[in-house]
Amino acid sequence: MTTDLDAYWMPFTANRQFKKAPRLLSKASGMHFWTPEGREVLDGIAGLWCVNAGHARPKIVEAIRAQALELDFAPPFNMAHPKAFELAERLVQLTPAGLNKVFYTNSGSESVETALKMAIAYHRARGEGSRTRLIGRERGYHGVNFGGISVGGMVANRKMFGSMLTGVDHIRHTHDPARNAFSIGQPQHGAELADDLERLVALHDASTIAAVIVEPVAGSTGVLLPPQGYLERLRAICDKHGILLIFDEVITGFGRTGAPFAAQRFGVTPDLMTVAKGLTNGCVPMGAVFAKQHIHDVFMNGPEHLIEFFHGYTYSGHPLACAAALGTLDTYAEEGLLTRASEMEAYFADALHSLKGLPHVIDIRNIGLVGGIELAPIDGSPGKRAFDIFLECWERGVLIRTTGDTVALSPPLIISKTHVDQIVGTLADALKRAG
Ligand code: PMP
Repeated sequence: MTTDLDAYWMPFTANRQFKKAPRLLSKASGMHFWTPEGREVLDGIAGLWCVNAGHARPKIVEAIRAQALELDFAPPFNMAHPKAFELAERLVQLTPAGLNKVFYTNSGSESVETALKMAIAYHRARGEGSRTRLIGRERGYHGVNFGGISVGGMVANRKMFGSMLTGVDHIRHTHDPARNAFSIGQPQHGAELADDLERLVALHDASTIAAVIVEPVAGSTGVLLPPQGYLERLRAICDKHGILLIFDEVITGFGRTGAPFAAQRFGVTPDLMTVAKGLTNGCVPMGAVFAKQHIHDVFMNGPEHLIEFFHGYTYSGHPLACAAALGTLDTYAEEGLLTRASEMEAYFADALHSLKGLPHVIDIRNIGLVGGIELAPIDGSPGKRAFDIFLECWERGVLIRTTGDTVALSPPLIISKTHVDQIVGTLADALKRAG
């Protein structure tokens, strides 16, 4: 393995700092990674919220291998291959009722761009071309392309990159530790924050608004759960004003919250839904947008010889990605993984909340098999406290993730209770040491 780190410009990484103390992974299986020196590291974040069935699963590996031999590529425009259809059929059996059209992409960021464009084009096709405004939420993360950072609500992702899309606004985020700290599952307070959308409707007029996009559980900005009743209220306001509701389920999709999708867990169905990550168990890049039938139908009303939605990628529905996704869905089904987080939720919640009272812990949040432990920041150095904990856990053989001063956990759904104990025990030791 090369240790020459000079040519590679790493994403979302402090490159100069990394080169002084590189953390390299060279092998993975099940719940674990191994370093080139052979050190075992327990995966507490499913790679990057994506390896939901654990690493190197035989069905997925074999599906990719066989597909590469049989059909390595097929052009996706005006052409197709059988697995693209098969996968779409399989996926719509899992999605919330009505979300039965599948458009393929290659990442979460591309899914977001696709959904935003679909929303605007849908209104235009219905003769409401004035509906172009997009509404996101503060502290939202919707990938790194221009649409995504525009509707997203993370200043670090926006401030370097100029003026963003025009016609974008944001509703308030739902993080309210003063009222909700240490809630187990959905917090009690804050459903009324959804009414912030009414403020934007009053400001801009519904006739200018195409869609609202939110993550049902905001992952990358600290595992922020929707207060009880919040998503229902957002849905009702969208319905009242003819605004499309988009759920970004790139993290929450494929079993993370205890149901196949968070929409099912929370009982609220969006009009469009974006996914990626767990779709292929992180094995091959792939994303998708799910659309309601009536949205699709509007596109199909134009002249038959014209392309209805002028959008797509060279690698949309790539044969290797489709094969990987089919192998992934088989693995999820055979092992009951799409509902396993609901079986593990109580144990995981107890373990996480046992960290309450340890140094610097100011909030703990959880649902299914995803959790956030928020730490008090070091004065003048936001994010440093959590990153120090990350480094300590890495040294102790557990991979976690940090965002700001929140430690995020999102382990593979195959996790055992012993693994939960190891992750939380390691975190507890690291926190005590940091104290
Ligand atoms: N949306 C959400 C909710 C995400 O969490 C992410 C990635 N963490 C993305 C979009 C972007 O996905 P990708 O990195 O695959 O482009």
